[in-house]
Amino acid sequence: MKNESKRELELYLHIPFCVRKCYYCDFLSMPAEETLRRHYVDMLLEEIKCKSKACSGYLVSSVFFGGGTPSLLPGVQIKELMDALRQNFCIREDAEITVECNPGTLTRQKLIFYKAAGINRLSLGLQSASNRELQRIGRIHTFQDFLVSFDLARKIGFTNINVDVISALPNQTLQDWEYTLKRVLETRPEHISAYSLIVEPGTPFYEQYGEDELCREQGVEPKDLPNEKTERQMYQMTQELLGQKGYRRYEISNYALPGRACRHNIGYWQMVPYLGLGLGSSSFLENIRFSNTTGLSGYLKGNFGDLEKILNKSPSESLSFSQGNQEQSLCFLNKKQQMEEFMFLGLRMTDGVLRSAFEERFGLELESIYGNVLKKLQRQGLLGRQEGRIFLTETGISVSNYALSEFLLEE
Ligand code: SF4
Repeated sequence: MKNESKRELELYLHIPFCVRKCYYCDFLSMPAEETLRRHYVDMLLEEIKCKSKACSGYLVSSVFFGGGTPSLLPGVQIKELMDALRQNFCIREDAEITVECNPGTLTRQKLIFYKAAGINRLSLGLQSASNRELQRIGRIHTFQDFLVSFDLARKIGFTNINVDVISALPNQTLQDWEYTLKRVLETRPEHISAYSLIVEPGTPFYEQYGEDELCREQGVEPKDLPNEKTERQMYQMTQELLGQKGYRRYEISNYALPGRACRHNIGYWQMVPYLGLGLGSSSFLENIRFSNTTGLSGYLKGNFGDLEKILNKSPSESLSFSQGNQEQSLCFLNKKQQMEEFMFLGLRMTDGVLRSAFEERFGLELESIYGNVLKKLQRQGLLGRQEGRIFLTETGISVSNYALSEFLLEE
């Protein structure tokens, strides 16, 4: 099959290992010995080989190594994985290939391997420019470690770098947040992801700040977390400071210099099919959402499912199950659910949804399904329309939970 006739596919590889858990983290990640990590990479190589057989009709436009901490692996292992992907999948020459890196784990040697492997984008998890805050949230690195990593990456030739930062940390003031933003801007990354802290159940932070989070949600003054007003001011400050320096917000929490928006993320919000490889990773292929086991022992025995069989299941076989601490799921999206997701995900982007894209995908006019909702949200000032697209306005974004819930369709 010629490349032009292949469908687009994104790949995600999950590396579930970290030096230690950050206090706020509920991602599927854990510390592990070197031999276990090597064993995991071997299984991942196996999974790549097995699952690629069902993907010959796809052309890969982006690869994302996420975690966990992919940069905890020796650089040569990332290269092995990348080589295996190239041998088994059809990858576009100009594909965006990202590795998530933790500043405390990055070395010159690793960066050289990344370059040799064709990695062309790095995502550095900084979170804060204040060492006091970094310590408070359990990060393993200092701000200086980040600066060294960033500088090294530039010297080795990485010209597309994202920096992750988190606002609304415990006891963080507006001035603290301004300090982080300004220090990050001094390094001039191509992309900045700025998320607000969510205190998730099951994390050490939940023990400490769970009640506070509840207070904040219910409009009661929290003790240690910034209150709702400060959180909103932080959000506005992010947009203002980054905007002044040429960063455009293209999604609720993501900012980029011109032409540097993350293609992998945009694909996700536009419902481009993606295949997740590795422990607990999720996939969306042929309108089926499914995920790998979350149990490491099961994964290491090769329980990562047969992709051909999954794609040949019938809609009545949708399932979601857990065995002990291992969870797996498989769910067919019917047309109604696909339309809902298309709107939920698409409207996260500031450019919103193209009416023609909706029509092309579903063979129906957007108005014929959502005419009343569009009118209502527009009347309320939450939705804008321009040049064939619809998007949430500033006010719409600030009440996005409500605005998006309007796109749920009746049974
Ligand atoms: S480095 Fe990232 S994945 Fe690992 S524990 Fe911290 S937040 Fe979680």
